[in-house]
Amino acid sequence: MIKIVNLHKSFGHLKVLRGINEEIKPGEVVSVIGPSGSGKSTFLRCINLLEEPTEGDIYIEGEKINDPGSDVNKLRRKVGMVFQQFNLFPHKDVMENICLAPVKLGLTSKQEAEKKARDLLLAVGLPDKDHVYPAQLSGGQKQRVAIARALAMNPDVMLFDEPTSALDPEMVGEVLDVMKHLAEDGMTMVVVTHEMGFAREVSDRVLFMDEGIIMEKRPPAELFDNPQNERTKLFLSKVL
Ligand code: ADP
Ligand code: MG
Repeated sequence: MIKIVNLHKSFGHLKVLRGINEEIKPGEVVSVIGPSGSGKSTFLRCINLLEEPTEGDIYIEGEKINDPGSDVNKLRRKVGMVFQQFNLFPHKDVMENICLAPVKLGLTSKQEAEKKARDLLLAVGLPDKDHVYPAQLSGGQKQRVAIARALAMNPDVMLFDEPTSALDPEMVGEVLDVMKHLAEDGMTMVVVTHEMGFAREVSDRVLFMDEGIIMEKRPPAELFDNPQNERTKLFLSKVL
């Protein structure tokens, strides 16, 4: 589903990603953990070209995405993204937030989009919030709307960048539950997270990133219970 070959990303002289190689299979759930500043967000942002790689290649479903001629809009339809800060449109209600992109891009009629939006709102546990504005929602509700909005594009892959880090603790669970259901339904997911319980329970593999390199990647039980890399050990000793 996703193949990343020798990915480098620099900002000026700052080398943030220093040679990432990774393959993610259809239906796989991969968590990315690691210290702050290690390049986790930059890695995700390269996968949907919010950042342009400095070197290396990224393929989605066999198609190289970082070519001058590649269609960024087509890519973003395939790859949904959910951010820490929700990024909902404040002056549009929930229904409009969810339907805006698919209707604007001409992927579906307004009526079809609204029908799908209602199904998605039901799936994320917010069936009665269609005409509420973001400011009237809790953080956990906003993030569930953001997930529904990303899913409205029928993506093949979902990227999550610390989706629960901005939430009050009592709202973390409701968002992780939605993500867990999505994983169980077979969605391919890459999740940057500090929720080690989620990473352990839901992921097929966990990548530990440090200083722009994947230092260790293994199934969660192995990585958490028996880390091999000294950096992984040090990081886990601080967060577990
Ligand atoms: P993480 O998500 O693991 O905390 P990031 O990928 O956000 O790490 O950032 C890695 C490094 O890249 C940090 O030093 C950060 O300051 C730097 N960085 C990220 N985005 C930019 C940017 N647009 N311009 C310059 N530096 C950036
Ligand atoms: Mg980050």
